[in-house]
Amino acid sequence: MTSDKGKIVIIGGGVAGLSAGIYAAMNGFDTEILEMHTVAGGQCTAWDRKGYRFDYCLHWLVGTASGPFHEIWEETHVLNDQTEIIDHDIHSRIVDAEGNEFIIYTDIERWEKYLLEISPEDERPIRKMCNTMRKSALLEPFSLPPALRSPLDYLRILPKMIPLFRVVQKYGRLTCSEYFARLNFKSSRIRSAFDAFYGNRNFSALAFLFMLGWFNQKNAGYVKGGSYPLAQRMVKRFKKLGGKISYGKRVDRILVEDHTATGVRLTDGTVIPAGWVISAADGYSTIYRMLEGRYLSKEIEHAYKNWELFIPLVQVSFGIGREVPSEAPIILNFMRGQQIGMTPLNFGYSLMNYSYDDTMAPEGRSTLVMRFESPWALWKELEGEAYRMEKERIREDATACLEKIYPGIREHIEVVDVATPKTDVRYTGVKDGAYEGFMPSRENMMKSLKMTLPRLRNFYMAGQWLFPGGGLPPAAQTGKWAVQLICKQKKQNFISNK
Ligand SMILES: Cc1cc2nc3c(=O)[nH]c(=O)nc-3n(C[C@H](O)[C@H](O)[C@H](O)COP(=O)(O)OP(=O)(O)OC[C@H]3O[C@@H](n4cnc5c(N)ncnc54)[C@H](O)[C@@H]3O)c2cc1C
Repeated sequence: MTSDKGKIVIIGGGVAGLSAGIYAAMNGFDTEILEMHTVAGGQCTAWDRKGYRFDYCLHWLVGTASGPFHEIWEETHVLNDQTEIIDHDIHSRIVDAEGNEFIIYTDIERWEKYLLEISPEDERPIRKMCNTMRKSALLEPFSLPPALRSPLDYLRILPKMIPLFRVVQKYGRLTCSEYFARLNFKSSRIRSAFDAFYGNRNFSALAFLFMLGWFNQKNAGYVKGGSYPLAQRMVKRFKKLGGKISYGKRVDRILVEDHTATGVRLTDGTVIPAGWVISAADGYSTIYRMLEGRYLSKEIEHAYKNWELFIPLVQVSFGIGREVPSEAPIILNFMRGQQIGMTPLNFGYSLMNYSYDDTMAPEGRSTLVMRFESPWALWKELEGEAYRMEKERIREDATACLEKIYPGIREHIEVVDVATPKTDVRYTGVKDGAYEGFMPSRENMMKSLKMTLPRLRNFYMAGQWLFPGGGLPPAAQTGKWAVQLICKQKKQNFISNK
């Protein structure tokens, strides 16, 4: 489709790029998404092996019930009349360093009761923490980008947000471990479960509190079918609106004339002219490679130099030829002294049992997915035979871990698939395997990066790198915002539903 409104080129067909594409096409622009991989979705993906589906992303989607993110999911057809939302009762079952069990419930009342049963003498900190979580659920994201908000938009949400300001003020600069230390639980079981959960790392207490607040509201469910169909529904929506998506097209440079983006050049030398460029690709590659670091602000330099990145993941997916009953969608195992391949499991491993979603395995069979963090430094230089051998060791060690949880399971394993941080980098170009961008820490939790770069016209950034913590909602929302800003620049009404 060509349009007299001009052409928008979008770099990257992840959820941010697909969202930008949908809104651009909806608003009448000639829109092309350039995706370097052979499928869309980016991090929001899954792959099939011998009838089993191994999901890489989705376990919770903020906005499954209400709010501005919900509107986006409806507008982009991520959610429709046929999609089924599953709200788990249990968030996770934790096995702490000593092997004790501990449950995190998604319903705060229920969790409070459970915690009080474990430790009646901790009534004060338990009630305090649970109340803070209830307040955290009041967080209402803005629906407009900062540049388009009026004072009225701020006034409108003010009454709802007042109780939340105090939470942000009190805990905004605390890490999880500092927060739990302040609560000063007497129960060693509660202390050791919380120590295990986010350990001694710079992970924002607010991120933890908001997460449980959203679960409690039943506004962060799992969408049956998982990541791959979710992304495919967006592709379908985009194409139906007349958008063009081209696969196997890697952008090498963003072309700029007179400080105005004029198109892109692909790695094969093809030039694609455009009136606007939206980059929904990896943030670092966009700014420092595609634009050669020519459009930097102090904030950007500070963020990319100082903010911690998510530690990349190794995912070991198992196809099991029998049903494996599941008491919790996720088991988090933090037993001391564990190692898989070359990686000491400083932050344990998670084991997901997808038995709640019958699209993930053939009937009578089960898909289990194990994940653990493995620093990029271990993988960066690993190539060829050494890389292959490491994957083999991981396969063996991970199977041994599984065997400890489910004795005898080894003989039922039909498929083992190992995806490393290098796999993620190869398919999506994400910096150092940081699958959700910047870690939400005490320094950056309430901060974000701008969608424009200083002095550069007709160019917008979208995607997870703008908001520490990343995730599908900010990815999709910034895609929408980029098109809202272009419409504003063109003095054109923005349409969000067609
Ligand atoms: C294991 C895991 C679990 C997760 N769980 C959840 C969850 O439960 N809920 C949630 O909300 N979020 C979750 N996330 C995070 C979520 O998947 C991401 O934050 C989100 O998908 C990021 O979307 P994006 O479009 O910003 O970036 P990406 O998905 O990284 O997309 C970028 C796209 O750009 C393409 N690209 C890169 N460079 C180029 C180039 N030069 N030329 C052309 N194309 C290029 C890539 O191939 C990719 O398709 C999870 C992620 C992982 C990995």
